[in-house]
Amino acid sequence: MTAAAYPTEVRRRADERILAILWNDGHRGDYPFAYLRGWCPCAGCQGHGGDKRYIHAENTDLIKIDLVGNYALQLHWGDGHETGIYTYQHLRELCPCPECPQTSPA
Ligand SMILES: [Zn+2]
Ligand SMILES: [Zn+2]
Repeated sequence: MTAAAYPTEVRRRADERILAILWNDGHRGDYPFAYLRGWCPCAGCQGHGGDKRYIHAENTDLIKIDLVGNYALQLHWGDGHETGIYTYQHLRELCPCPECPQTSPA
């Protein structure tokens, strides 16, 4: 587990539609906006079942990022959806780079 991992740099690249996260252990992940939106962890997207669901949203513009405490990022999307609190642990598990285990569809 990488529960202690936290981002040292979070950069939104609107032109590439990527959120680039640099982690405290030097790891780097480039998260496509649609991929992040798809794995929104909020109850509205995920419901209360056990299985994680991938959401296909029409508007996946990432317009704003807020820090939540020192454990998560709140992502604001172009369609007004903003209830997703992405914990650092969740983000790290979603890391789409080839070195990380792929548990999710891109
Ligand atoms: Zn959501
Ligand atoms: Zn990775």
